Amino acid sequence: MAGRIVLIGLGSNVGDRAEHLRVALQRLGSVPGIAVVRASAVVESELVGDGPAQGKFLNAVAELRTNWPAVALLALCGELETMAGRVRPAPRNHPRPLDLDLLFDGDLHIDSRELVLPHPRWHEREFVCGPLRELGYDLAALPKVERPAVIESPVAMAAQCSRWLAGGCVVGLVPTMGSLHRGHASLMELARQECDRVVATIFVNPLQFGPGEDFAAYPRDLTGDVRLCKQAGVDAVFAPTVAQMYDPEFCSQVAVGPAAATMEGALRPGHFAGVATVVARLFALARPQRAYFGEKDAQQLAVIRRMQKDLGFPLQVVGCPIVRETDGLAMSSRNVYLSAEDRAASTVLSRALASAQFAWQQGERDRDRLLARARVVMAAEPRAQVDYIELRRDVDLAELPAGPVADVRMLIAARFAGGVRPVRLLDNARLGAGSWS
Ligand code: AMP
Repeated sequence: MAGRIVLIGLGSNVGDRAEHLRVALQRLGSVPGIAVVRASAVVESELVGDGPAQGKFLNAVAELRTNWPAVALLALCGELETMAGRVRPAPRNHPRPLDLDLLFDGDLHIDSRELVLPHPRWHEREFVCGPLRELGYDLAALPKVERPAVIESPVAMAAQCSRWLAGGCVVGLVPTMGSLHRGHASLMELARQECDRVVATIFVNPLQFGPGEDFAAYPRDLTGDVRLCKQAGVDAVFAPTVAQMYDPEFCSQVAVGPAAATMEGALRPGHFAGVATVVARLFALARPQRAYFGEKDAQQLAVIRRMQKDLGFPLQVVGCPIVRETDGLAMSSRNVYLSAEDRAASTVLSRALASAQFAWQQGERDRDRLLARARVVMAAEPRAQVDYIELRRDVDLAELPAGPVADVRMLIAARFAGGVRPVRLLDNARLGAGSWS
């Protein structure tokens, strides 16, 4: 029979596992236009990845010869899984009577919502590699999909996202300046859950640094960042150079309004115009349906939400909760510059917020008395130079008149000067939130 060689992986860890694999192969071979050329021996393996406690898998790899299109084979595999008793939808990595994965379809490369070929993780799975070796394949010669793909050129980034969008994928964007930590990872993990493809951008954006700020000294670690992105399930890391992002004639900027005029905006003139400009550029390049930003930088989030509405970017801006060290310090790339003494003192920001939070829970609603609670805590820490303590309307961080307040966020910024370089720490919390957020 003529046709392409298609390799599929078979797995089962519920019921009579060997019988499930045997029946699946027999059913595949009895479909007109599909021949099972040969199959590997069966191997036993543990679940790969996180999931509930469950029995071991039996796995094998089979070689088919067929002219069926790959998407039709995928649908057929789904039907065979259902016939074996697999229930859908089912949570990821739950036990299953039958799992059929398309691994390779000749030389075909597909990267659509429902199908990625070659299978993106085949080479990470011994229960696939072992049977492939047994069938005589040279693993080094088989094609691999690099995940995350590391892309420098804006044109290549835009082209990659266009292909994903054309393949029906929901693309999620996570803009960062790199030097990644668990706070960034939480954004990527949420994007991973909500989107088909996740793009993390790593770009220390000169436009958002003022003269005398730490652009040159901002911590950079692309190798470590790509490792973290891989663990978080990111599909592409976009890491352009400054010259690639901004050509020599570059001169257009997004003007930002009152949302950017106070607090960080007052202390760092031009900062939010620089942030809004690079984010608008990233939105235009990647055209994501969803973009993820941390509440850690609450004013930045407010500025971007406003820009998204004002300029009509067709996407949803998703705010993500602050990730903290165990002692309460909000994670930040700049925390590495704190001296040991300043690091110990730095918990004062979260303690000040907790104090206002406690007052709120006791029924305090007066703007100035809530602010006073936080000020007292900040004042007790001489290492912290307070830049501002503000209570703002949560939804857009608009200023509030004195008197009783509702739906508010408290924001604090303070400087610590005892380390190799001065560090500004930002923190905030919505008062009345069940947990820190
Ligand atoms: P940066 O690399 O500092 O520009 O941050 C990139 C994104 O990660 C921004 O949307 C930040 O708000 C977010 N982020 C930074 N630190 C944290 C954190 N501790 N928890 C949650 N999100 C964070």
